[in-house]
Amino acid sequence: MPSSLPQQVDVAIIGGGIIGISTAWALTKAGLRVAVFEKGVLAGEQSSRNWGWIRSIGRDPAELPLAHRANSLWREIQQQVNVGYRQVGLAYLGENAADQAELNKWLDSAQQHPTGARLLTGDAVNQVLAEPSQRPWSSALHSAEDGVAEPQLATAGIAQLARAAGCQIFEQCAVRGLDIAGGRAAGVITEHGRVAADRVVLAGGAWSRLMCGNTGVFLPQLKVHGSALRTDALPTGLDLAVNGKEFTCRPRADGGYTVSKLSASVADVTPDSIRLLPLFFRAWMAQKQFLKIRFGRRFFEELFTPTRFALDKPTPFEKTRTLDPGPNTSSVHAALRQLQQAFPAFKGAQVAQAWGGMMDVTPDALPVISAVDAIPGFFIGTGFSGHGFGIGPAAGELLAQLVQGIAPTVEHHAFRLSRFRA
Ligand SMILES: Cc1cc2nc3c(=O)[nH]c(=O)nc-3n(C[C@H](O)[C@H](O)[C@H](O)COP(=O)(O)OP(=O)(O)OC[C@H]3O[C@@H](n4cnc5c(N)ncnc54)[C@H](O)[C@@H]3O)c2cc1C
Repeated sequence: MPSSLPQQVDVAIIGGGIIGISTAWALTKAGLRVAVFEKGVLAGEQSSRNWGWIRSIGRDPAELPLAHRANSLWREIQQQVNVGYRQVGLAYLGENAADQAELNKWLDSAQQHPTGARLLTGDAVNQVLAEPSQRPWSSALHSAEDGVAEPQLATAGIAQLARAAGCQIFEQCAVRGLDIAGGRAAGVITEHGRVAADRVVLAGGAWSRLMCGNTGVFLPQLKVHGSALRTDALPTGLDLAVNGKEFTCRPRADGGYTVSKLSASVADVTPDSIRLLPLFFRAWMAQKQFLKIRFGRRFFEELFTPTRFALDKPTPFEKTRTLDPGPNTSSVHAALRQLQQAFPAFKGAQVAQAWGGMMDVTPDALPVISAVDAIPGFFIGTGFSGHGFGIGPAAGELLAQLVQGIAPTVEHHAFRLSRFRA
């Protein structure tokens, strides 16, 4: 049980992942009284389980202003606390003309934004990799401005800055639901009591749809299972994050590598995926080479999870303190084998750990960073669709600006909740 909850704050934040904590940091710096409520432990879910990429390459152009701003914030964070941020660069590799055309397509789409990305060909590709490869890489989309940070350190580090600025953070404290008075958000009902707040932010990751549904707000969001492994420390020259199609890898601060592949993702069929099929069908088709669709245990788990519940007794948020789905082992081991074939320096790599995480995805793979028009005082930052870590600090800053009612410093139209209709 957390030591004495505050009676009243300016902003109550639901969720202690990178989005909730970055929002809290920005709001606390602006002088507001902020409390964050986390049902488990800080960054227990996606925010500590991701690959640690901070990338502009491959992003929807709508997110590029956030990615650009995030680079400055990551630098600012790293200057104050070690989160393992390094601007080492990131490359998507190509082997043939079709790959190169695909890489160029993205470059064209991103032209209006300052990404630092450029297409490398010939020897320039080998120079940037700085590690002999047995694959005939003929092109690379490379950005020297992209980088990496340590997911195990990042949210904790930002939380340290937020606490130092006066933010209160309560772990093992689930929010059961919103307190709504006179049609507007008036606080949160936690498992340990009510906290009044002028404004409430939901940054609940994969749980946001459940919270929204019980509050009468439509949020089309599904869960996609992702996996990764890490190797023990290993000397290679590869010191940038790389996507080689059948594998991805990034150097870690401990001298090892985090390894996976884009197609390690699995979408379990659930009652929600049937309900939301009309909205997600196009996205699933577009991603079909990367996404496996599976029917199994999760269907029944979610079928028996209540979607409507009272706030005066334990809710599903307390039942699962930390969503820990386990890894898709065969997929990440296959990725490691592909990496070893491509770069012989990885031949002796030892697997230290493999893990899984549940990503929260929207139909257009863009996040919701938005006020909820139907409930004044209620804001949402969620649906980062498998790429919210890198832009997390900037997304939190944007959400904090919306909460304060000040003009956002980045374009945010693409992220409004009202783009979705039930
Ligand atoms: C395997 C994998 C690889 C990825 N790789 C990358 C990458 O390389 N780069 C990148 O940019 N992104 C990546 N991502 C995505 C990235 O991790 C997420 O987009 C980001 O962490 C989302 O942060 P969040 O704060 O929204 O969610 P989360 O980190 O999931 O945090 C939400 C928190 O809210 C809490 N919560 C929910 N409901 C309640 C409640 N009612 N009361 C209290 N607390 C509640 C949860 O316990 C949780 O801790 C990856 C994700 C996965 C799974």
